[in-house]
Amino acid sequence: MENKKIRACAYCRVSTASDTQDGSFEVQCEYYERLINSDPEMEFVGVYGDHGKSGRKMYNREEMNRMIKDCEDGKIDLILPSVYIKNHHEPIISRKQFERCNVILELKKSTTPLQYPFAEFIRCPYCGHVLRHRKLLIQNCYTHFCCEGEGACREFVIQSQEVEKAILKAYETLDLEEVKRIVISRNADRAENAELLLQIKEKYPSFSKIDYWWMDDLIERIDFGFHSHTDSELKKGGIDDRTVSIHWKCGIITTLSSGVLRDSQDPRHKAELWDAYLLRYPSQFPKLVEEVRKKK
Ligand SMILES: [Zn+2]
Repeated sequence: MENKKIRACAYCRVSTASDTQDGSFEVQCEYYERLINSDPEMEFVGVYGDHGKSGRKMYNREEMNRMIKDCEDGKIDLILPSVYIKNHHEPIISRKQFERCNVILELKKSTTPLQYPFAEFIRCPYCGHVLRHRKLLIQNCYTHFCCEGEGACREFVIQSQEVEKAILKAYETLDLEEVKRIVISRNADRAENAELLLQIKEKYPSFSKIDYWWMDDLIERIDFGFHSHTDSELKKGGIDDRTVSIHWKCGIITTLSSGVLRDSQDPRHKAELWDAYLLRYPSQFPKLVEEVRKKK
């Protein structure tokens, strides 16, 4: 029986005017095709590449998105090159995007795929720990973001669909006049990101789902409010701090309600339920149960 080959592709991009003959797009493509085909353990999937555009400001990531999609669909096992090409000063793709593709590939291999496009952006408002995306059997099995892992407080669990809704709404309701003001501002980095945002907005006035590519391009990080009041406490006159704040790369911050409506949805209450659930099945989740016990 023949061993399964590693399905490999290459990502090539030429974006500067100073391209030498050696670094030209066609030369890169040929080089990687030959390299992959010459390795008996590899199978050539193809070359992805954005070429012909000079400025970094141009929104030109269709090929990157196509590659990410193929990664997600399980068509690729390996991406070449490893971020930088020899004799090329500019990164072929950003390190972050490259790592993102590889994270997808890793997750494809794992038995419990819990990939989430912005998992590393979001932290627990109580302890600062990175939140994990989980399928949780709390109140009709929604997926949640949870504070858990080494050193986590385990006090915060929130439905991911509420967070997603807030992000999609924040994108849809962005104040484009403010974005345009940033485009002509003196802050070059912000201006570049604002221009990118305008270009994407023009093409996609709203999105129906959370996706890697635009999240990566547009969002710097996401913060949660402290969620210190339950619904009944709020009725007694507290300040509603149950919010999600989206920090756009262009410098704008959009703050929206996190969608928590009932006391039973309160992140602290959900954290209690999650811990109680784990303690009921210690043999299934030995590590997590250990964390819960440590906390107590
Ligand atoms: Zn925490």
